Amino acid sequence: MLKLADCFFTQKRNMKKIYLSMALAICVQLLFGQAQDKNITIPDLDNYKTLKCDFHMHTVFSDGLVWPTVRIDEAYAEGLDAISITEHLEYRPHKEDIKASHNRSFDIAKTAAENKGIILIKGSEITRSMAPGHNNAIFLQDCDKLDTPEYMDAFKAAKDQNAFIFWNHPGWDAQQPEETRWWDIHTQLYEGGFMQGIEVANGPEYYPEAHQWCLDKKLTMIGTSDIHQPIQTDINFAKGEHRTITLVFAKERSSESIREALLSHRTAVFYKDMLIGEEVYLKELFKNAVAIEKVDKTDKNVRITLKNNSGLTFRLKKGNHDPALTYFREYTIEPNSLHTLDIRLSESTQSGNVNFEITNLLVKPGKGLDYQISF
Ligand code: ZN
Repeated sequence: MLKLADCFFTQKRNMKKIYLSMALAICVQLLFGQAQDKNITIPDLDNYKTLKCDFHMHTVFSDGLVWPTVRIDEAYAEGLDAISITEHLEYRPHKEDIKASHNRSFDIAKTAAENKGIILIKGSEITRSMAPGHNNAIFLQDCDKLDTPEYMDAFKAAKDQNAFIFWNHPGWDAQQPEETRWWDIHTQLYEGGFMQGIEVANGPEYYPEAHQWCLDKKLTMIGTSDIHQPIQTDINFAKGEHRTITLVFAKERSSESIREALLSHRTAVFYKDMLIGEEVYLKELFKNAVAIEKVDKTDKNVRITLKNNSGLTFRLKKGNHDPALTYFREYTIEPNSLHTLDIRLSESTQSGNVNFEITNLLVKPGKGLDYQISF
C-alpha cells in the first residue's frame, strides 16, 4: 500500500509523463501533420488515374521569386503528379541578372523532377495584351522558337511543336476591366486549332464565363496556381488551403497520358473547396470518394452510414424528393470521416431515393451535381 506522500509523488510523476507525451504529440503533429495536410487524397475514377497537375507557374527566369528546383520541392510536398514551369516569353524583369534561353528553367528543374518522381512538362507563357491576352503552350520541345515579334507567329511555333495551348486568366481585370469578353481573335485561335483549353480558375479567381465557354465549345477546363512567390506565401496550408490545380483523369501516370487526357477534355478543376468539371467525372469521383458502408432499416427509419475516404469536403442540399421521406435540408460531409444520414419514413414506405445536390461540385456555373442514393 502506498503512503499519501508516495501517492502524491507517483501522481506527479505520472502527470510529468502525460505532459511529456502531450508535448511529444504536439511536436510530431507540427513536424508531420502539416506536411500530411498538404497532400489531399483524391480518388481515382473507375478507368482513369486522377493526377494532380499545375500547368502554370513562374520562377526567377521570368517574374517569379524562386529558383526552378523550388517548384519541384513544393510540388512534391503537396503530392502533385505533374507541373509545367511557364515563364513569360516577353516579360523578364530579372533579365539584367539572369540572361538565359527560355528553356533554361526547365533544364535546371529536370533532374530534381526525375529524382522526386514529378512529371515536368516543358511550357511557356505567350504574354500579350488583350486580345489574345496571356496563353500557355505546354508540351513544347523548344521554347525559344516562340519568342517572336508577332503573337500569331508564337502560336504557330507552338502548334508546329504539337503544343496544348490554353487561354490564361480570361477574366483578369487588368486586361478585361469591364467584363470577361471573348474577342474575335479568340474565335480565330479556336477555329485555327490554336486553343484547346481555358483557365476556368487561376489562383484565387474563378471565371464563370470561361466555365460556360468550355462547356459550349468543348474546350478543356484548366485550373492553375500561376504562382510567382514561394507557394507558402500565397497558400496557408495550416488552414487546410491548397493551390488551384487541374485534376487530369489519365490512363496512366505519364506525360503522354496527361496529354491524351487533356486533348479528350478529361479534367476537373480543384479550386478552394470546389471541383469544377463535367458531370460524368464529378459523379464518379463522388461515388469513389464516399462509400456507403451500410443501410439499416426499421419500420419508420432508414439510417445510411457513409464513409468519406477522400480529403474533399462535400456540401449537400436536399433536391426534389418523395414527400414520404424526411431528411436533411443541408448536410456537409467532412473529409476523411464517417457519417450517418437518418431518413424518416411515412407509413407503408419501404424503399425510396435520397436526392440531393452537391453544391460544391459544379457541373455548370451556379449548378451543383445532382446525386441519388437509393435504399
Ligand atoms: Zn503566368
